[in-house]
This record gives sequence, C-alpha cells and structure tokens, in this order.
Amino acid sequence: MKIVDKIKDLKAYLAKEKQDNKRIGLVPTMGALHAGHLSLVKRCVKENDICVVSVFVNPTQFNDKHDLETYPRTLDKDCALLQAANCDYVFVPSVEEMYPEPDTRTFDFGPVMQVMEGARRPGHFNGVAQVVSKLFYIVEPDKAYFGEKDFQQIAVIRAMVNQLHIPVEIIDCPIMREADGLAMSSRNTRLTPEQRQKAPLIAHTLKESVNFAAGKSVQDVINFVVKTVEKEPVMKVEYYEIVDGHTMQPIQNWSDTDYPVGCITVYCGDVRLIDNIKYALNHKA
Ligand code: AMP
Repeated sequence: MKIVDKIKDLKAYLAKEKQDNKRIGLVPTMGALHAGHLSLVKRCVKENDICVVSVFVNPTQFNDKHDLETYPRTLDKDCALLQAANCDYVFVPSVEEMYPEPDTRTFDFGPVMQVMEGARRPGHFNGVAQVVSKLFYIVEPDKAYFGEKDFQQIAVIRAMVNQLHIPVEIIDCPIMREADGLAMSSRNTRLTPEQRQKAPLIAHTLKESVNFAAGKSVQDVINFVVKTVEKEPVMKVEYYEIVDGHTMQPIQNWSDTDYPVGCITVYCGDVRLIDNIKYALNHKA
C-alpha cells in the first residue's frame, strides 16, 4: 500500500494502473476510520483492481469551526486498518494541496440540497461537492463508494455527477452499526460514557417506528419518533423528516412516494448524530 500526499504523484501512479487496464475504485473519507468506512473499502477492493482511499478532513464542508477543530484525526491507525483491508493507495493531501487557491465554486443541484442537512448546515453540501469533484478529477475512478448513513449526501453526489457529466458510477453501501444499534460514526468517540450509553435510543426508536407506522399517518410517525427520543433529556432532535428517498423532499402521505425514508439528526449533548431508516410500503394510513 502506498501513502501519497501529492496530487501529481497519485495521478502518475494511477496513470500507470490505467495503462494496464486496471479498474479504479475510490472511497472518500475524512479518516478516524471505523468498521463503517471499512465496509466501503472491502466492497471497493472486491469490485475493482485498484482501491484508492482518500483521508482528508475537508475544511470547506464544515459550517461549525468547533466541529472542524475537534474532528478526530488518527492517521497512523487509519493507515494500519487500510493496509489490513488491502487498500492500494491512501491519498492524504494537505489543505494547501487540495486548495492551492480558495475554491470559489458555488453549486446548485436544486431541491435535493436545500432540505434537511442542506437547510441546517449552510454551505455543507457545497463544500462536499467541492472536495468530491476535485477527488473525482484527480483519481478519475470507475466507481466511488458512499455510505447510506449520509443518505442525503449520496443524492447530492449523484446530482453532481449528472450535472457535471463526471463519468463515475456511484455505489451506495448500507449503514454499519455497533452491536447495540448505534450507527457507526467518527463523532461517536466524542460522546461521554453516559451519552454513549443513551445514544442507541436513536436507532431503536427508528426501528420501532417501522412497526408503529402500521395504520398511522406520516405526521403520527414523526411525532412518535421525536417524542420517544426526547424522553431522554440528553437528546434534542434537530429534525425528523420522512422524505421521498429519490428526491429528498418531505412527504405528507405515504402514497406520495414509493421509497419513504426517515432521516433524523439528534444532538446527544453537544455531539450531532445522524441516522435514517427505510419504511415499508404496507402501512398506508
Ligand atoms: P466520513 O469520513 O464521515 O466523511 O465518511 C466517509 C464515508 O463513509 C461516507 O460515504 C460515509 O457515508 C461512510 N460512512 C460513515 N459511517 C458509516 C457507517 N456507519 N456505515 C456505512 N458507511 C458509513
């Protein structure tokens, strides 16, 4: 496994691989790797000849300075995990390497980026599009792997590659969870032991809401989820929305979509956690 920090070096290595007709897969990450990331890497290794993993804490996608400053950074451990997972190249650029000059591009992918995370984290998806488009231009992967934990992000990336005509196949991968159900996240390490113990309530409630939904309206289910999670005083729900999983737009009735997905953001203390769940279609109210 090669650890590369310069764009021109990575491009030179990959040009050689492409000459040999190797198929390239890319997994973009911000590091502090856990089994969720590694599930993407494993799939990338399996489905491609060459697996490239980027580890870059992208400043332009952080709308909260404190979040950027406290974001966990564990590069040595990340490299050991990636080596064990048979990754071929780890790309670890500096901020100056990725942004030799300020990225002034402003993207508009329409309604898909205006709701939920887009509405609550101004500039977040613009920053994601800036960094992921740069990574796509640098690596020119055949396939790129993203986790469904960041459900809306996948929709934004798909809109981006369509709008910009970037020839890459976007592969979405299921959410990996801890044994107690909590969606794996680099930010989980910031939870206090007490908060960590309470945090699985989010996933439990989402799961319970799938059964609760039988015969209930969309609004009933939203109320149930918010009320149940907030029974725990350490939890504050920022939003719970049930959306069309293709367009990310909130639905009022189950019949509004063939793909209802519930997306939640919860502050557990001051740690912002996200999760989501897919609803079956058999509980029309
Ligand atoms: P991040 O390092 O948080 O930017 O995440 C890098 C990639 O890993 C993104 O595509 C995430 O959606 C994905 N990811 C993060 N956590 C999980 C998880 N628990 N299960 C599956 N994929 C995940």
